[in-house]
Amino acid sequence: MSFQALGLSEPLLKTIAEQNYTQPYPIQKEAIPAILKGKDILGIARTGSGKTAGFVLPILEWFQDKGAPKNRSIRVLVLAPTRELALQIAVVFQTFGEKLPRKVKTMAVYGGVSINPQMIGLQNVEILVATPGRLLDLLSHKALTISDTEILVLDEADKMLNMGFAEEMKDIFFLLPKKRQSILFSATLGDDVEAIHKSILREPVKIEI
Ligand code: AMP
Repeated sequence: MSFQALGLSEPLLKTIAEQNYTQPYPIQKEAIPAILKGKDILGIARTGSGKTAGFVLPILEWFQDKGAPKNRSIRVLVLAPTRELALQIAVVFQTFGEKLPRKVKTMAVYGGVSINPQMIGLQNVEILVATPGRLLDLLSHKALTISDTEILVLDEADKMLNMGFAEEMKDIFFLLPKKRQSILFSATLGDDVEAIHKSILREPVKIEI
């Protein structure tokens, strides 16, 4: 099966080829068409499975027929446990999005660095990749809004919970609209991840690699 058969369009297929992705990985074969259909996803997958492109590619495709950005309103929110992972995910969005007709500004925000440059940089950002604590800080500064966010991605949900972000995550979910698409990836499916997925996913497609 090719990337083309998964429902991705020509400009994105070109970048995929340039990145030397010749065949979709198993997780991508399942996740990409389901995300394009607007389904919620429960993905049990580790780093190295190709999970990042599994959500980045359909999200970039989804943007192609969307109107102009609304300032400081985040359309796609990705939560990640660490600065390193947040930066990595943002780079994948930027790499695959670079040559698309509909440009999408992506930014990573995380704690441990000054908040001011992040507040300034948020201008016209549509995809925000954030660690939970810093996102709440930015929200309390009214630097952005997530009340119109259409897609939520939780990456490495088990790690976020293990790092003690459960309360922050709940606070964030409360601020998101109820009507949205939610995508959760976790390396393991323990009781805590079960509880989160039951409270935030609606009839998810379960993908286990
Ligand atoms: P991830 O599990 O998302 O961290 O991805 C692991 C690695 O696999 C990254 O270096 C990706 O660039 C690479 N990768 C993801 N999907 C593909 C693919 N379909 N073909 C070749 N490499 C890929």
